[in-house]
Amino acid sequence: MAHKAGFVNIIGSPNVGKSTLMNALVGEKLSIITRKAQTTRHRILGIINGEDFQIVYSDTPGILKPHYKLHEAMMKQVGNALQDADVLLYMVEAGEKPGETIELIEKINLSEIPVLLLINKVDAVEQERITETENLWTPLFKNPEVIKISALKNLNLNLVFDAIMQYLPESPPYYGKDELTDKPVRFFISEIIREKILLFYSKEVPYSVEVFIDSFKEESTIIRIAATIFVARESQKAIILGHNGAGIKRLGTEARLNMEHFLDKHVFLALTVKVNDNWRNDNQMLQRFGYEV
Ligand code: GDP
Ligand code: MG
Repeated sequence: MAHKAGFVNIIGSPNVGKSTLMNALVGEKLSIITRKAQTTRHRILGIINGEDFQIVYSDTPGILKPHYKLHEAMMKQVGNALQDADVLLYMVEAGEKPGETIELIEKINLSEIPVLLLINKVDAVEQERITETENLWTPLFKNPEVIKISALKNLNLNLVFDAIMQYLPESPPYYGKDELTDKPVRFFISEIIREKILLFYSKEVPYSVEVFIDSFKEESTIIRIAATIFVARESQKAIILGHNGAGIKRLGTEARLNMEHFLDKHVFLALTVKVNDNWRNDNQMLQRFGYEV
């Protein structure tokens, strides 16, 4: 049989379960998952390989209207996800109503890219609501293949895989067959720190931070990592540091343990907190953090 390969892009509103699905499909915790919306700011590629296939997944930020430059950069990535896709996984959650995404669906319909309409979280709602969701969304797409899934409970993910394989074009592999992802390790390191910030701090703090890895040095028995957490205001810096530095200490410990698990090696982690009040609107800073501007 000829070799198949292609790009499979997952899109949908924030919080519907895109990262959970990709992690389940790829089998590694590559993309951070939390209850808070807008966790995923970057495109993340996860790659799975078989003898005669290679599927390159990308997980996009949720669809939203741009409010400031950061959102514009995120939406640009959603746009890119449309351009280079061989198969689109359009994900909704059971009970979700079509809204802001209508414009995007029109673009998808013009693009001729095959669409799998995934209705997720079927483990959490009544059959009636699932049918209702299916009836609302199916007519919006030209020719969708509808699959009802639970990314969390691993329900029907084999059907998703089979459908993807059916639409995947014949092609040689795009990446070496031992590559799991095209993102550098540094990216995952910064995502681990960001995940802990999302978990430990409430309100506006998590949305105002960005993490930059200053250095990553691998020695024979330990990896030394230095990272800076940029916040928007002095008051947020104080919150991150916590009373007598207790906050940053807990953050550092938890992040380090996670990194050690991910890297399978001892880690020494040094964290610094700095105030930069305008990074969301600053092109140079956005570029430094890896956004396209
Ligand atoms: P994303 O923003 O679309 O990437 O969504 P996430 O993957 O981060 O998931 C958002 C929340 O929905 C998390 O709390 C997940 O555990 C939860 N979730 C994802 N898939 C399912 C599912 O199939 N069933 C249920 N009950 N919860 C899910
Ligand atoms: Mg996500």
